Amino acid sequence: MSHSILQALGLGEVQSGTYLGHGEWSRTTDAGELAPVNPATGEVIARVYASSAADYERILERAQAAFEVWRTTPAPRRGEAIRLCGEALRRHKSALGSLVALEMGKIKPEGDGEVQEMIDVADLALGQSRMLYGYTMHSERPGHRMYEQWHPLGLVGIISAFNFPVAVWSWNAFIAAVCGDISIWKPSPKTPLSAIAALKICNEALKDGGFPDLFFLFNDAGDTLAQRFVDDTRIPLISFTGSTRVGRLVGERVARRMGRSLLELGGNNAIILDETADLKLAIPAIVFGAVGTAGQRCTTTRRLIVHASILDEVTQKLVAAYQQVENRIGDPTDPATLMGPLNSAAAVEAYRAAIAQATAAGGKVLTGGKVLDDRKGFFVQPTIIAGLDHTHPVVQTETFAPILYVMPFHTLDESIAMQNAVPQGLSSAIFTQNLKAAERFLSATGSDCGIANVNIGTSGAEIGGAFGGEKETGGGRESGSDAWKAYMRRQTNTINYSDALPLAQGIKFDL
Ligand code: NAD
Repeated sequence: MSHSILQALGLGEVQSGTYLGHGEWSRTTDAGELAPVNPATGEVIARVYASSAADYERILERAQAAFEVWRTTPAPRRGEAIRLCGEALRRHKSALGSLVALEMGKIKPEGDGEVQEMIDVADLALGQSRMLYGYTMHSERPGHRMYEQWHPLGLVGIISAFNFPVAVWSWNAFIAAVCGDISIWKPSPKTPLSAIAALKICNEALKDGGFPDLFFLFNDAGDTLAQRFVDDTRIPLISFTGSTRVGRLVGERVARRMGRSLLELGGNNAIILDETADLKLAIPAIVFGAVGTAGQRCTTTRRLIVHASILDEVTQKLVAAYQQVENRIGDPTDPATLMGPLNSAAAVEAYRAAIAQATAAGGKVLTGGKVLDDRKGFFVQPTIIAGLDHTHPVVQTETFAPILYVMPFHTLDESIAMQNAVPQGLSSAIFTQNLKAAERFLSATGSDCGIANVNIGTSGAEIGGAFGGEKETGGGRESGSDAWKAYMRRQTNTINYSDALPLAQGIKFDL
């Protein structure tokens, strides 16, 4: 099975993890290896040679040379390059979606959905390439014109997480490319094959279309090259997606060299159900949000804040729905599967530890709670836990697993305070039919998250909006709206077409 998925994408069982540009993959074999594992079986899928320091330098040189040319290419022409990437991804959608499912462990429709997101971002980037707008302003001085323009920034470093092994790259790389930048990608060591396949598909499309290299790739056996990357002053922007722990480190280091960072870090997302909530909408949204991708989305629903008057009814319905999911846990590439495995043995241990911590503190497991160690791979039961205070450390922590904490509330104010009382600020939602409650939740005194929804869940954001969150989620925004501005530098220009030299603020400086 894994052999045919690799073969469909032109990958072998031993693979270079370094794209050097000019159609060349590195021949380095002595810088260590990555051994990505199929989370459904625990078996190694293929071996990937890691990159050396010399490979890294080569990439940097070639990426800098590529930028010199690419920044002078008209933006709509840059959009055409990304259109070709989108077309190629359409053709390879199912094959790449299968590889994502195999290597990351998300179910096949989610793997395909991730590739669809790349296609959608390519379309967005194509349109954006004609809309890199700057404002014009009225000068306070006669005979002067003032405006701003957006120039390409340079090299963009992309460090990505295992759970969206290809889409996050495209959010960054495609928008950066139409902005005139060249990007260099360091993917998660857990998902190098998906990264290699995605890069190959796009690079071949660029080559066939007569475009130069826009995307480079290296894989790090440890974190030495990743740290060099973060500290590299030749890279004005590091876009990092991953845990808050590593993101904090990256943000601090990039700030120290006065670089820019775009941080997309952990979430601890809540759904509020008030007493008017339409449970026909809410229950499936909660189950998909909490159980989808086996709880390994940054936007996974981890906390459910329910009006006390409907708590029993909601928990009964959820437990029944979870039992249906439990019967369909299995191989993510099997179309009948609803929930795949966790990605690693370490993730299973984190799940086990969180449940032990929750129950030791008096939490009651309403359903699930067990590791499925009767089979190969990293499977666990989706779990609901009640009876913990919203301030308990385990509720405050993002455990990257399908664990949902259910907590009652009595007033809207209390529910909003509970929703906001965590260190993270990514995604949030309220289910209500009360207009005042909905508007209050979206108001300045409502949710403090980067994403706030009414009558839809916390996960599954559309690429047209700016994606990201506040507080320990890092503050970055990617994808739609005006997120493209992060990949460009702004320049304010003033032109004097008069015969005088008036100074601003009416200052006189008589010579
Ligand atoms: P992680 O932090 O362990 O790893 C992320 C990346 O950082 C990997 O590529 C890793 O190799 C790299 N890395 C590790 N140490 C480094 C160092 N010292 N310097 C530079 N890079 C280093 O995260 P993960 O387990 O792969 O992903 C899960 C996390 O990502 C969760 O917290 C999830 O919420 C978050 N995430 C956030 C978003 C978002 O958009 N907000 C999206 C996806 C995932």
